[in-house]
Amino acid sequence: MWQILLILCALLYLLWQWIHAPAAVRIDRERWDKYPLQVHFIDVGHGDSILLLSQGHAMLIDGGMPFRSKTVQRYLRTCGVEHLDAIVCTHEHWDHAGGLRGVVQHFPFDRAYAPVDRADCVAKGYFNRFAAEVAQRGHTLERPALGEVWQLGEAQIKVIGPLDYDPPNHAENNRSIVLRVTYGETSLLLTGDAERYAHEAMMKSGAELASDVVKVGHHGIRQDKAFYEAVAPKIAVFSCANMSKERSADIERELRGMGIELWFTREAGSIVCASDGQSWTVGKSAE
Ligand SMILES: [Zn+2]
Repeated sequence: MWQILLILCALLYLLWQWIHAPAAVRIDRERWDKYPLQVHFIDVGHGDSILLLSQGHAMLIDGGMPFRSKTVQRYLRTCGVEHLDAIVCTHEHWDHAGGLRGVVQHFPFDRAYAPVDRADCVAKGYFNRFAAEVAQRGHTLERPALGEVWQLGEAQIKVIGPLDYDPPNHAENNRSIVLRVTYGETSLLLTGDAERYAHEAMMKSGAELASDVVKVGHHGIRQDKAFYEAVAPKIAVFSCANMSKERSADIERELRGMGIELWFTREAGSIVCASDGQSWTVGKSAE
């Protein structure tokens, strides 16, 4: 009997190791490093993890699910990142916060931001362990102020959401930190998992939404065409896996109908949007 238990334990251990093993990471640095601003949408399956690089400075926005953490860390190292100016957790769901604890453990950082300092949702443990790890390293998890502007190398990053930290529905998604990145003439909007409620609040706020590139909110789920008409992007990036494909079909069709070029991590793997200050170049992180 005990032999069977032992074999079962060994199999479970191997399965655990396999799930957490980092995926292979390939980045064509020769192609991308010549751009003063690079935005890497790291392929973490279902979830978000976005790395901003500008003139030796780095910011990570979300870290994917817990078992993607090593992939994110390997991606950062392959880009030559040893230190992060800031870590942003857009909201407390595990497909955004899950991988961040491992990042905090292995990369020194200056600041960490999240819309809450303690989570109370289904997968709250992952967020709370990330928050505890931030505190253990002597940092305070900060709630960004609306309208605040951060400098990252040559890029400016403005906080344009959330307008409401206690929204009435889909609360965690609708209090996602939303950031608008600008460099020279180029702009990009990062929306976390914001849905209709947050979209409407941002449109009413009078914040400048118009951006050349948008990361579609909530992996394309419960999105609102009117918001994307206000953003009027040329390019839209979906950070997603096949599991959300059916639920994002409507917005995909609507954005295509608006003539927007669509990119999906589920098809392309990790995607890079790189700016020279005049225009964006988009491609797979390595061909
Ligand atoms: Zn999500």
